[in-house]
Amino acid sequence: MLDFRAVGQAPAFSQPSYKAHAKAGTAIRLTPLFPWIKGGFALALTVLAADVLGRAAGWGALGSGPRTGSHVALTFDDGPSPRTPALMTVLARYSAPATFFVTAPQAAAHPELMKALAEAGHQLEAHGIWHRPALLLPPWKEWAQVRWHPRATGAGAPGLLYRPPYGGHSPFTRLLARLARRQIALWDVEGRDWLALPASELAQHTLKQVRPGSVILLHDGPEVTPELLGLILHGLHERGLTPVLLRDLPMQRISLRAGLGRLRASYGR
Ligand SMILES: [Zn+2]
Repeated sequence: MLDFRAVGQAPAFSQPSYKAHAKAGTAIRLTPLFPWIKGGFALALTVLAADVLGRAAGWGALGSGPRTGSHVALTFDDGPSPRTPALMTVLARYSAPATFFVTAPQAAAHPELMKALAEAGHQLEAHGIWHRPALLLPPWKEWAQVRWHPRATGAGAPGLLYRPPYGGHSPFTRLLARLARRQIALWDVEGRDWLALPASELAQHTLKQVRPGSVILLHDGPEVTPELLGLILHGLHERGLTPVLLRDLPMQRISLRAGLGRLRASYGR
Protein backbone atom coordinates (compact mmCIF):
# COMPACT_ATOMS: atom_id res chain seq x y z
CA MET A 1 0.00 0.00 0.00
CA LEU A 2 1.05 3.53 -0.64
CA ASP A 3 1.55 5.79 2.31
CA PHE A 4 0.63 9.33 1.34
CA ARG A 5 1.91 10.72 4.63
CA ALA A 6 5.40 10.00 3.46
CA VAL A 7 5.21 12.58 0.72
CA GLY A 8 2.53 14.80 2.15
CA GLN A 9 0.26 14.87 -0.88
CA ALA A 10 -1.58 12.62 -3.28
CA PRO A 11 0.17 11.62 -6.46
CA ALA A 12 -0.67 13.44 -9.63
CA PHE A 13 1.30 11.09 -11.79
CA SER A 14 1.34 7.45 -12.79
CA GLN A 15 1.79 4.74 -10.22
CA PRO A 16 5.27 3.47 -11.08
CA SER A 17 6.86 6.88 -10.99
CA TYR A 18 4.93 7.74 -7.82
CA LYS A 19 6.41 4.66 -6.15
CA ALA A 20 9.84 5.96 -6.87
CA HIS A 21 8.91 9.38 -5.58
CA ALA A 22 7.40 7.92 -2.39
CA LYS A 23 10.63 6.07 -1.71
CA ALA A 24 12.65 9.24 -2.13
CA GLY A 25 10.07 11.11 -0.06
CA THR A 26 10.48 8.97 3.06
CA ALA A 27 14.18 9.62 3.04
CA ILE A 28 13.99 13.24 1.95
CA ARG A 29 14.97 14.59 5.37
CA LEU A 30 18.06 12.38 5.66
CA THR A 31 19.38 11.56 2.19
CA PRO A 32 20.84 14.96 1.34
CA LEU A 33 22.51 15.19 4.75
CA PHE A 34 24.13 11.77 4.91
CA PRO A 35 26.91 12.36 2.40
CA TRP A 36 27.70 15.67 4.09
CA ILE A 37 27.81 14.15 7.57
CA LYS A 38 29.82 11.19 6.34
CA GLY A 39 32.11 13.40 4.27
CA GLY A 40 32.58 15.87 7.12
CA PHE A 41 33.34 13.11 9.56
CA ALA A 42 35.84 11.49 7.20
CA LEU A 43 37.47 14.86 6.54
CA ALA A 44 37.70 15.64 10.28
CA LEU A 45 39.22 12.22 10.93
CA THR A 46 41.71 12.65 8.09
CA VAL A 47 42.73 16.12 9.30
CA LEU A 48 43.08 14.83 12.87
CA ALA A 49 45.11 11.79 11.78
CA ALA A 50 47.34 13.96 9.57
CA ASP A 51 47.81 16.45 12.42
CA VAL A 52 48.70 13.75 14.96
CA LEU A 53 51.01 11.97 12.51
CA GLY A 54 52.55 15.24 11.32
CA ARG A 55 53.23 16.38 14.85
CA ALA A 56 54.69 13.00 15.83
CA ALA A 57 56.92 13.09 12.74
CA GLY A 58 58.06 16.64 13.46
CA TRP A 59 56.84 17.76 10.04
CA GLY A 60 57.65 21.44 9.50
CA ALA A 61 60.08 21.74 12.43
CA LEU A 62 63.78 22.26 11.80
CA GLY A 63 65.42 18.86 11.56
CA SER A 64 68.84 18.76 9.94
CA GLY A 65 71.24 20.76 7.82
CA PRO A 66 72.06 20.47 4.12
CA ARG A 67 73.07 16.95 3.04
CA THR A 68 75.87 18.28 0.93
CA GLY A 69 79.07 19.50 2.49
CA SER A 70 80.76 18.28 5.64
CA HIS A 71 78.99 20.00 8.54
CA VAL A 72 77.11 18.30 11.37
CA ALA A 73 75.87 19.61 14.73
CA LEU A 74 76.12 18.21 18.24
CA THR A 75 73.26 19.13 20.57
CA PHE A 76 72.86 18.50 24.31
CA ASP A 77 69.48 18.61 26.05
CA ASP A 78 68.46 18.97 29.70
CA GLY A 79 71.51 20.81 31.10
CA PRO A 80 73.43 22.53 32.37
CA SER A 81 74.33 19.92 34.94
CA PRO A 82 77.30 18.72 37.00
CA ARG A 83 78.19 16.78 33.80
CA THR A 84 78.64 19.97 31.73
CA PRO A 85 82.35 20.55 32.58
CA ALA A 86 83.22 16.99 31.45
CA LEU A 87 81.37 17.55 28.16
CA MET A 88 83.12 20.89 27.68
CA THR A 89 86.52 19.25 28.24
CA VAL A 90 85.89 16.66 25.52
CA LEU A 91 84.51 19.31 23.15
CA ALA A 92 87.59 21.51 23.78
CA ARG A 93 89.90 18.57 23.02
CA TYR A 94 88.43 18.44 19.51
CA SER A 95 87.87 22.23 19.24
CA ALA A 96 84.23 21.38 18.61
CA PRO A 97 81.42 23.83 19.27
CA ALA A 98 78.03 22.49 20.38
CA THR A 99 74.48 23.69 21.00
CA PHE A 100 72.99 23.26 24.48
CA PHE A 101 69.20 23.18 24.86
CA VAL A 102 68.91 24.13 28.53
CA THR A 103 65.91 24.09 30.85
CA ALA A 104 64.92 27.07 33.00
CA PRO A 105 65.42 25.32 36.37
CA GLN A 106 68.84 23.96 35.37
CA ALA A 107 69.94 27.34 34.00
CA ALA A 108 68.83 29.02 37.25
CA ALA A 109 70.63 26.38 39.34
CA HIS A 110 73.94 26.69 37.43
CA PRO A 111 74.54 30.31 36.33
CA GLU A 112 78.31 29.74 36.38
CA LEU A 113 77.96 26.89 33.85
CA MET A 114 75.72 29.03 31.62
CA LYS A 115 78.44 31.68 31.64
CA ALA A 116 81.19 29.12 30.98
CA LEU A 117 79.26 27.63 28.03
CA ALA A 118 78.67 31.04 26.47
CA GLU A 119 82.29 32.09 26.99
CA ALA A 120 83.54 28.86 25.38
CA GLY A 121 81.54 29.77 22.26
CA HIS A 122 78.76 27.21 22.61
CA GLN A 123 75.24 28.10 21.55
CA LEU A 124 72.51 28.32 24.21
CA GLU A 125 68.93 27.51 23.25
CA ALA A 126 65.69 26.69 25.07
CA HIS A 127 64.35 23.35 26.27
CA GLY A 128 61.49 24.80 28.33
CA ILE A 129 60.57 25.33 31.94
CA TRP A 130 58.82 22.01 32.62
CA HIS A 131 60.38 18.83 31.31
CA ARG A 132 57.03 17.32 30.42
CA PRO A 133 55.41 16.20 27.17
CA ALA A 134 53.59 19.13 25.56
CA LEU A 135 50.29 17.25 25.69
CA LEU A 136 50.42 17.34 29.50
CA LEU A 137 50.69 21.13 29.64
CA PRO A 138 47.59 23.33 29.51
CA PRO A 139 47.87 25.93 26.72
CA TRP A 140 48.67 28.86 29.07
CA LYS A 141 51.54 26.88 30.60
CA GLU A 142 52.76 25.83 27.18
CA TRP A 143 52.79 29.49 26.16
CA ALA A 144 55.14 30.23 29.08
CA GLN A 145 57.11 27.09 28.19
CA VAL A 146 57.61 28.14 24.55
CA ARG A 147 58.35 31.78 25.40
CA TRP A 148 61.08 31.13 27.94
CA HIS A 149 64.57 31.40 26.46
CA PRO A 150 67.99 31.68 28.11
CA ARG A 151 69.04 34.44 25.67
CA ALA A 152 65.71 36.23 25.32
CA THR A 153 66.00 39.95 25.80
CA GLY A 154 62.61 41.61 25.65
CA ALA A 155 59.87 40.32 23.41
CA GLY A 156 60.50 38.15 20.41
CA ALA A 157 64.13 38.33 19.35
CA PRO A 158 64.21 36.44 16.04
CA GLY A 159 66.17 33.25 15.43
CA LEU A 160 65.76 31.79 18.90
CA LEU A 161 65.31 28.02 18.97
CA TYR A 162 63.01 25.94 21.14
CA ARG A 163 63.29 22.18 21.45
CA PRO A 164 60.20 20.75 23.15
CA PRO A 165 60.87 18.06 25.78
CA TYR A 166 60.84 14.63 24.06
CA GLY A 167 60.37 16.53 20.78
CA GLY A 168 56.63 16.32 21.51
CA HIS A 169 54.08 18.70 20.05
CA SER A 170 50.62 19.52 21.34
CA PRO A 171 48.03 20.83 18.88
CA PHE A 172 49.12 24.34 20.02
CA THR A 173 52.91 24.05 19.94
CA ARG A 174 53.44 25.31 16.40
CA LEU A 175 51.05 28.21 16.79
CA LEU A 176 52.56 29.25 20.14
CA ALA A 177 56.09 29.00 18.72
CA ARG A 178 55.06 31.20 15.79
CA LEU A 179 53.51 33.78 18.13
CA ALA A 180 56.60 33.77 20.37
CA ARG A 181 58.88 33.95 17.30
CA ARG A 182 60.62 30.74 18.18
CA GLN A 183 61.75 28.10 15.72
CA ILE A 184 61.17 24.51 16.77
CA ALA A 185 64.43 22.62 16.40
CA LEU A 186 64.55 18.83 16.52
CA TRP A 187 67.25 16.39 15.35
CA ASP A 188 67.73 13.53 12.90
CA VAL A 189 70.15 11.29 14.82
CA GLU A 190 69.72 10.04 18.39
CA GLY A 191 72.78 9.22 20.50
CA ARG A 192 70.47 7.14 22.74
CA ASP A 193 72.59 7.99 25.78
CA TRP A 194 69.59 7.26 28.02
CA LEU A 195 70.10 3.52 27.40
CA ALA A 196 72.23 1.41 29.70
CA LEU A 197 74.63 0.36 26.94
CA PRO A 198 78.42 0.67 26.60
CA ALA A 199 79.63 3.93 25.05
CA SER A 200 81.29 2.03 22.18
CA GLU A 201 78.01 0.39 21.18
CA LEU A 202 76.11 3.68 21.33
CA ALA A 203 78.82 5.45 19.33
CA GLN A 204 78.84 2.78 16.64
CA HIS A 205 75.07 3.00 16.27
CA THR A 206 75.12 6.80 16.23
CA LEU A 207 77.90 7.07 13.66
CA LYS A 208 76.07 4.64 11.39
CA GLN A 209 73.14 7.10 11.22
CA VAL A 210 75.21 10.26 10.76
CA ARG A 211 75.29 11.97 7.36
CA PRO A 212 76.42 15.43 6.30
CA GLY A 213 73.98 17.90 7.86
CA SER A 214 73.03 15.60 10.73
CA VAL A 215 71.89 17.08 14.02
CA ILE A 216 72.87 14.66 16.78
CA LEU A 217 70.78 14.50 19.96
CA LEU A 218 72.74 13.88 23.17
CA HIS A 219 72.04 14.74 26.81
CA ASP A 220 73.80 16.83 29.42
CA GLY A 221 73.44 14.55 32.42
CA PRO A 222 73.97 10.82 31.71
CA GLU A 223 77.23 9.34 32.94
CA VAL A 224 78.00 7.69 29.60
CA THR A 225 77.75 10.86 27.49
CA PRO A 226 81.28 12.34 27.87
CA GLU A 227 82.86 9.02 26.79
CA LEU A 228 80.27 8.61 24.03
CA LEU A 229 80.94 12.17 22.87
CA GLY A 230 84.67 11.45 22.62
CA LEU A 231 84.01 8.38 20.44
CA ILE A 232 81.53 10.27 18.25
CA LEU A 233 83.94 13.18 17.77
CA HIS A 234 86.70 10.73 16.86
CA GLY A 235 84.41 9.00 14.34
CA LEU A 236 83.27 12.29 12.82
CA HIS A 237 86.88 13.42 12.46
CA GLU A 238 87.78 10.16 10.70
CA ARG A 239 84.95 10.70 8.23
CA GLY A 240 85.91 14.31 7.57
CA LEU A 241 82.73 15.68 9.20
CA THR A 242 83.08 18.92 11.15
CA PRO A 243 80.78 19.88 14.06
CA VAL A 244 79.41 23.42 13.89
CA LEU A 245 76.88 25.43 15.88
CA LEU A 246 73.25 25.05 14.82
CA ARG A 247 73.24 28.69 13.75
CA ASP A 248 76.00 27.87 11.27
CA LEU A 249 74.46 24.70 9.82
CA PRO A 250 71.78 26.07 8.71
CA MET A 251 68.82 23.87 9.62
CA GLN A 252 66.09 22.90 7.18
CA ARG A 253 62.44 22.07 7.75
CA ILE A 254 61.47 18.42 8.08
CA SER A 255 59.59 17.29 4.98
CA LEU A 256 56.71 14.85 5.24
CA ARG A 257 58.89 12.07 3.83
CA ALA A 258 61.80 12.83 6.15
CA GLY A 259 59.35 13.05 9.06
CA LEU A 260 58.00 9.58 8.37
CA GLY A 261 61.57 8.29 8.11
CA ARG A 262 62.27 9.95 11.44
CA LEU A 263 59.27 8.20 13.01
CA ARG A 264 60.44 4.85 11.67
CA ALA A 265 63.97 5.46 12.96
CA SER A 266 62.69 6.44 16.42
CA TYR A 267 60.33 3.58 16.92
CA GLY A 268 61.65 0.90 14.63
CA ARG A 269 65.10 0.09 15.92
ZN1 LIG B 1 64.92 16.73 27.43
